Amino acid sequence: MERTVETSSQARDFRLPDACVACGGDLSVRVGPGSAWSACLACHRLAPVRVGEVNGEFAMLHPPGGLA
Ligand SMILES: [Zn+2]
Repeated sequence: MERTVETSSQARDFRLPDACVACGGDLSVRVGPGSAWSACLACHRLAPVRVGEVNGEFAMLHPPGGLA
């Protein structure tokens, strides 16, 4: 089952300063259709994030127990 990678029109990247739960570094967050990942620019920790719109505002929700 393959999907064509056609997320450029929908994927969004943004940076969250000091948001890494592991080291407190800057997070680079990529949001695509159906999934979102954060990558720490300092310690390179990857973690899935949940995003959604809350009251018309873009919001990111860290899953509980994010530390492995
Ligand atoms: Zn980090």
